[in-house]
Parts: sequence; structure tokens; C-alpha cells
Amino acid sequence: MSSTYLALNNIHQKFGTHLALNDVSLDVAEGEFVCFLGPSGCGKTSLLRIIAGLDLPTGGQVNQAGKDITYAPVKHRDFGIVFQSYALFPNLTVEDNIAYGLVTQNVSAQERRNRVKELLATVGLSGSERKYPAQLSGGQQQRVALARALATSPGLLLLDEPLSALDARVRAHLRQEIKQLQEKLGVTTIMVTHDQEEALTMADKIVVMNHGIIEQIGSPQTVYSQPKSAFVASFVGEMNFLQADIAGDHLLKSGDHTIEFDGQLGQKKNAIQVAIRPEDVRFLAQGQDQNTFTGRVAHTEFLGSRVRSTLKLDGIEAPLLADVSMNEMATLNIEAGHSVICQLPKDRLHVFEGV
Ligand code: ATP
Repeated sequence: MSSTYLALNNIHQKFGTHLALNDVSLDVAEGEFVCFLGPSGCGKTSLLRIIAGLDLPTGGQVNQAGKDITYAPVKHRDFGIVFQSYALFPNLTVEDNIAYGLVTQNVSAQERRNRVKELLATVGLSGSERKYPAQLSGGQQQRVALARALATSPGLLLLDEPLSALDARVRAHLRQEIKQLQEKLGVTTIMVTHDQEEALTMADKIVVMNHGIIEQIGSPQTVYSQPKSAFVASFVGEMNFLQADIAGDHLLKSGDHTIEFDGQLGQKKNAIQVAIRPEDVRFLAQGQDQNTFTGRVAHTEFLGSRVRSTLKLDGIEAPLLADVSMNEMATLNIEAGHSVICQLPKDRLHVFEGV
């Protein structure tokens, strides 16, 4: 296990009476790709700005490479940053934009030229030295911004929603490229995003934030398959929730139904929420196994590789989403208006405190 490169200890940020960050602590290992994921206003940008020294926290401490940098001026910090809006200098060529940080470090003109050439090759823009930002597409401008952020070989790369201004195709492409580049360079990276798909595909570790606190820290797989709270479960991926009460050791009651549950209920009291991912709902041709429900397909939605159906189950108020492949859909005759039998497998259920 690699060592901690960046440590955030008990960070607080108050704007007037508003507590934007409430006791946030986090360790980032050397070479790790960490995503701050959360809805608008949860505090992810505030946290990134504190790491960059663009804002000072009202409490807590930031350590980078073993040094306390909480109050260090920006120019003494070791990071490169890419913003959502490219933030390139429009009156400078691509070469001068990328070399900007090298000039202030007194790197010789020849060395700068070589470094720019190398960086342009790295981001797939060889030969663009003399162009101006306005002559480049959004995706190309963001590559230049990335090259500029990497020019001084910083220990830390900060990415503030770098892909959200781009269209879906460019975004998906650049997502992969940034990830590969980060792995190749091994640079410790923190990316702010509100896009769960971006976080799931790029991060080694996701930090899910809500209302100024960290709800969960974990690998994409862990955060997706073992969400710690109803918020994480609903923000990362799609999740069905049913209101339920505890009816026994491994028994729940929702509406008229008794639901068996494999996991531990811990200290949870009534009322709770039982949850299941749409892809975990099973359709049955027939049968009365445990946790089976009869119902009707309200409508279906084609999602490309799969079909999402909205089900109205007998005795359950909330609609239930269920995903199936095209093949399954045809075999099981899942169509709007048709009756279905489905199962909520007991080992696929999650249970959360009620709302
Ligand atoms: P977004 O995705 O919309 O950028 P975010 O998760 O990055 O959201 P922040 O920008 O960190 O959220 O803001 C967290 C909270 O702090 C918000 O309620 C915001 O309105 C508030 N806030 C942020 N910066 C300031 C500021 N300089 N002055 C006052 N309030 C601020």
C-alpha cells in the first residue's frame, strides 16, 4: 500500500453563517485518482479550492508530501489545475499557454520548447504549437489546459469538472485519455465531478459528499455495491426504495408483503427503507419462491444495451424499476400492460434508516 501524499484533517469552511464543509478528513495515497462526487452545493469545489490554496479554511489542516500547507501561498504549492472553462489565455499561442508556468520557473527557451513538444504529443496535439485557443475545439482546448497543468510536473493534479463543458462523445473519449495519462504519469489526482459515471469509470477512490460532509469513501465497486446510506445509494447509480418495517430477525414487511433479508439490521428501528438496484430485480416465468411479487408493467424504456421497465407491483405503492437485456425482454414477454412475476432476491437487498 502506498503512503499518504495528501491529508485533509478536520477541514471546516464557513461562509457567513453557512457551514459549507463540516469536519472533513481524508487521506489520498501517492499516485491515487480520487473523485469528489456530490450534488451541486455539497462543498466539493470549496474543498478543492482549499487544497489549491485559492481559499483558506476556517478550520483544519492540509498536509501535502508531509508538509503543512494549510496557509501556504498558491505560488509555493506544488499542483497543476484544470478548470471546467479551460481558462486558457486567448491572446497566447498553445505553446505559450503550456509554457506559462515554465517561464515563471526560469526554464530556458530551448528546454521549454522541448517540454511543450513532449506535452503536446502526450495529449495528442502534436504540431499545434502556433495555434491560438480560438482555433481549437472545446476538447482540444481542454487537452491544452491539461498539458499546461502538467508542464511543471506537479506532485498533485487538480481537475475541477474538466469535462462538463464538452459534448458526450468528446467527454467519454477524454475521460479515458485522462485516466490513461494519469496512470502512466502516476500523478496523484483529485477530480471534482457531479457525474457519477465519470467518477465510477475514472476514480480509484470516490469520496461521496452531501451537505458539507463525507457520506462515504470507497472504491467505485464498494460505493456502488455497498452504499452506506440511502443518499449514496440514490446518488450513485439507480436504486428502488420501498418503505418497510422490521418484522423479525431477517424479516421485513412492506405493504402486504413479507420480505426476507440476508443482511444484518444492526441498530435500525422502524420505519426503514428496503432498497434494490434495477438490475438486481429478477423476472420469473412462474413460481412462488420467497420475495416474489405479482404485478404489471406500466411502461418500458429502451436504454441501448438494456431495457428499463417500470413495474406496478400488487400491494406496493411505489413503482419499481427493473432492467433486463433485450433477450430477456423478448423471452419473458415484458411489455407495457403485461402481467409479470418478479423477485427481489434476499441477498441483493439493502436496508437503510427511514426518511
Ligand atoms: P457545484 O457543483 O454547484 O459547484 P459544489 O459542491 O462544488 O457545487 P461549493 O461550490 O463548494 O459546492 O459550495 C458549497 C456551499 O458553499 C454552497 O452552498 C455555496 O453556495 C456556498 N459557497 C461557496 N463559495 C462561497 C462563497 N465564496 N461565499 C459564500 N458562499 C459560498
